[in-house]
Amino acid sequence: MAKFGSLLVLLLGMLISFDGFANTMSIDEHTPTPLNLTPWLMVTHSNANPQLGDIQALPKSQWHKFTSDDIQRLSQHDFWLRVNLTSGDESLARILALDNPLLDRVTIFHLVNNQLINTTEMGDTLLYKNRPLPSNIFLYPFKLSSNEQHTFYLHIVTEGSAAVPLSLWSANDLAQIAESTAVEHGFQLGVLAAIGIFSLFIALASGSFSYSYYSGYVLCMTLLVATINGYAFRFLWPNWPALQQLMVPVLLPLVMAFALMFTEKILQLKYYNRRMLLMCRYSAVYIILVGLLVPFLRYGTVLYIEIISVAILSIIMMILAIIQAINGQKLAKLYTIGWVSMLTGACISSLLYLSVIEFNIKPQTPVMLGLTFEIIFMSLVLAIRYNDERKSKLRIQQEALKQAQKIRSAREEALKVEAETNERLEQMVQERTLELEITLRELHEVNQKLTEQSTIDSLTGVKNRSAFDKRLLAESRISRRQETPIALLMLDIDRFKSINDQFGHLAGDQALKVIATTLQQHLKRPTDLVSRFGGEEFAIILPNTTADGAIQVAESIRDAVTSIGLEWEGKPIPLTVSIGVSADVISNDQHSTELLEQADKALYQAKNSGRNQVKLYAPAQTEPT
Ligand code: GH3
Ligand code: MG
Ligand code: MG
Repeated sequence: MAKFGSLLVLLLGMLISFDGFANTMSIDEHTPTPLNLTPWLMVTHSNANPQLGDIQALPKSQWHKFTSDDIQRLSQHDFWLRVNLTSGDESLARILALDNPLLDRVTIFHLVNNQLINTTEMGDTLLYKNRPLPSNIFLYPFKLSSNEQHTFYLHIVTEGSAAVPLSLWSANDLAQIAESTAVEHGFQLGVLAAIGIFSLFIALASGSFSYSYYSGYVLCMTLLVATINGYAFRFLWPNWPALQQLMVPVLLPLVMAFALMFTEKILQLKYYNRRMLLMCRYSAVYIILVGLLVPFLRYGTVLYIEIISVAILSIIMMILAIIQAINGQKLAKLYTIGWVSMLTGACISSLLYLSVIEFNIKPQTPVMLGLTFEIIFMSLVLAIRYNDERKSKLRIQQEALKQAQKIRSAREEALKVEAETNERLEQMVQERTLELEITLRELHEVNQKLTEQSTIDSLTGVKNRSAFDKRLLAESRISRRQETPIALLMLDIDRFKSINDQFGHLAGDQALKVIATTLQQHLKRPTDLVSRFGGEEFAIILPNTTADGAIQVAESIRDAVTSIGLEWEGKPIPLTVSIGVSADVISNDQHSTELLEQADKALYQAKNSGRNQVKLYAPAQTEPT
């Protein structure tokens, strides 16, 4: 119904204009709002710097109906708009709305019945707080009393987009639409900001470049959208209109640069295609350089270069993504879907702006939907990429772990072999040492035996003369030190010569052996020593033995020899011995020799006294009478 009504009003307005009431719109309480005032807008482009009076004085021919040609170019604009409204019988409150938050300066001259009643200035080069109503778009409230003619002159000075969607609202309708628009925009900006901040945190936490670029892209895009919608000026920098002028031409290249760097990461151009990688990087540098032109060129010129560049770069990026997708890269396929949806939205919006197509939606809705979808979709792509990267890192780590384990076990094996070798070596050394020890011991034993043999008389098996001399010296020292007596027996076989003569030398040798054995058997103390002194003479050392004891031993020996009963070839060999005895405590170095001489002398006496007897050396007896 409302649409039908507005159509009627439109037709009516046209009829009136033909009737000579040029471009006057009649308003009453039934006129639906929002009422698009574009069909009633008259425009004139001024060259000098005219005042309201000059404009009012312009002839009719200088004015023409407003068309899209008047605003298409992005350049310096300076023009005047005029719209006439007449009221009916009732008083009405209405709001004039100009829905382009980026207009630099809009001066509204409000005339009632050709009398100027109010002049208001608005625009994003002026402080936000000066606006008559707090809104991101430009609103002018006024009252229509009965049967009045209201004329509005709008002087518009701006750079960039000069779209002037002018409409008339009732307060109620505006409040409703303002609320729903605020919710819609708030939701969109909220989603974008949340994704941007979330990505920023992930980037900070993980040090991931892809997330850094993505968060840069989303946050700059959020700010750009908020700036274009007028929310950023309203809430973020209401007192800095100068900043507001900079934001669009600065943010646009930033968004594009981040998008390029993010694309390079997502498509993994570093690994897949170096030429494309360089293309992306050079493009990012180029667009940033364009952004740096802002202070040096006119706003409209910079924006013009930027928009053309962004359009071309977006298409290049899409081509790169499509090529990579055709080459079979999984992420490139997903990326293409996201990017295509955004570009499609942008195309539809452009067509809506240019009125090539018509839908019952706001022109910016498709681009915003496309953008929101693209950003959500890209965060999904990024999550997949991040997960893939994490998985491959994990795989590499596991591989490294396996390698490390292999190395460790190889080292352990080597250590084991080394330990075994060492053990075997040690064992071999031990064996050799043992063998050596045994050999040494054997050698020692042989040596000992040799030494012993050198002290033994070969025929009789008793000690020889040199062993006797050594022992005599040793025992004499003991006797001297301990003052114990030492006794010597000097023994000679009686008439041995005749035994030899009678029985032969072999029998004589046999007699020597038998007597030597008998002597050894009769000496009980381990320190007693028998030795063959020479020929058929034996000398015996009896340490720690007095003369009496020595005589006893000598007697028992003499007795034993007598009773040997040696036979040679069936004939008995009579064996007797004569023994000379001497004993004393040794008192000086020559004493042992003296003692030996004394024993010899006693033996001599025994021989002289008839043989087969024992004689103790006695000095008194020694002197022969
Ligand atoms: P006596 O001592 O009683 O006065 O008479 P004798 O016959 O024993 O006298 P003498 O001491 O002069 O003789 C020693 C002899 O002993 C000389 C030598 O032929 C003999 N004789 C010395 N050594 C050995 C020996 O090793 N073997 C043999 N068979 N005879 C020896
Ligand atoms: Mg003799
Ligand atoms: Mg003799």
